[in-house]
Amino acid sequence: MQTLQKSKTFKHFLRMALSLICLFTLLLPNFEPTAKAISQSDIDALQADANKLAAKKKGLQSKLSALSDDKSKVLDKKELLDEQISVLSDQVSNVEDQIADFDHLISQTQTQLDEAKEKEKLQYQLFCKRVRAMEECGTISYWSVLFKANSFTDLLSRLDFVNEIMESDQRVIDDLKKLQDEISAKQNDLKDQKAESESAKADLVAKKSELDTQRKTTVSLMKQIEENEADYKSTLSEIAREEDATNDKIAQMAKELAKQSSAKGTYGGYIWPVTVSKRISSPFGRRTSPGGIGSTNHKGVDICGVGYTTQVLAAKAGTVIISQYSSSYGNYVVINHGGGNATLYAHLSSRKVSVGDTVTQGQVIGITGCTGHSTGPHLHFGITEDGEWVDPLKYLSDYTKAW
Ligand SMILES: [Zn+2]
Repeated sequence: MQTLQKSKTFKHFLRMALSLICLFTLLLPNFEPTAKAISQSDIDALQADANKLAAKKKGLQSKLSALSDDKSKVLDKKELLDEQISVLSDQVSNVEDQIADFDHLISQTQTQLDEAKEKEKLQYQLFCKRVRAMEECGTISYWSVLFKANSFTDLLSRLDFVNEIMESDQRVIDDLKKLQDEISAKQNDLKDQKAESESAKADLVAKKSELDTQRKTTVSLMKQIEENEADYKSTLSEIAREEDATNDKIAQMAKELAKQSSAKGTYGGYIWPVTVSKRISSPFGRRTSPGGIGSTNHKGVDICGVGYTTQVLAAKAGTVIISQYSSSYGNYVVINHGGGNATLYAHLSSRKVSVGDTVTQGQVIGITGCTGHSTGPHLHFGITEDGEWVDPLKYLSDYTKAW
């Protein structure tokens, strides 16, 4: 998880940079346009850090979308594993049923075998009983029956009689022995099959436990991705909070400046800050933040179709009161027009004016870009009147809706 490590390092860096910017804001003694509490070189140094930060931030955004791709891949894998595991579980329980069936059949053959053995024993006892009629059983000897003959005829008849009994008993006993052999063979066959089923079951159980392990890994990977995602989102929402704070600060500055000057502000009379496009991709007011992150309170309009090289013009003559970088607005410029009236130009790739500069209407103040919290090149343009943000579309004629 190299990316995780990187993102943590980046987060520290981002926090440091954010607090630097906050500190810088606090250090400003007042908002008077001519009072430069901070030198240009300070700003340039900050700018250098800020550019690095901007690049990292863009990386963060793309990482976030890559992460959601990864997450859906991992989720797919987990679902596949779940399916496989469920099939294997079914197979295991099927094999277990087979084993139970074999156990049942084996115990059936055992009963048959016991019965046959019992029959053999009874047949033997019957045989002994019959012989005992002529002589005591125990030391059975057919010969002793024969030796008791009193004549040759008697001997032959005794011989026939003994033969007959012997043959009959032998047949019954042979049959019983054959039956026992058959049952034993059947039982051995069943035992073999049961052993096969048991080894199949062992294979299935091993396979299932392997899949269980894979599933565990997948689940923990998904958890990690979710944690990364949460990290990224919280970093980006920090940036969004900073954007809201910047908006408040600019409005406050315009108000303060209005108080210091006795001149009454006149609103309106703005020209389009770019000449290449009049397409608005995001209007003024509340909006669903792109990707569920960032500020949901849009204090201006987004002019799209401006690329990275379009000149940004002062919408109205005034004095530059802010020209700096922030993690939300990137490079941005604020021009004060007096009476609480100010204009904001954000996400510039470069700024062409400094704090304190007097600008005429239509003067180039920067170049369009995609710095700060921005998913593509556009110009964020905002207007305050009497220190409150107002909808620029009140004044920008002929705009095209692109939202
Ligand atoms: Zn915007």
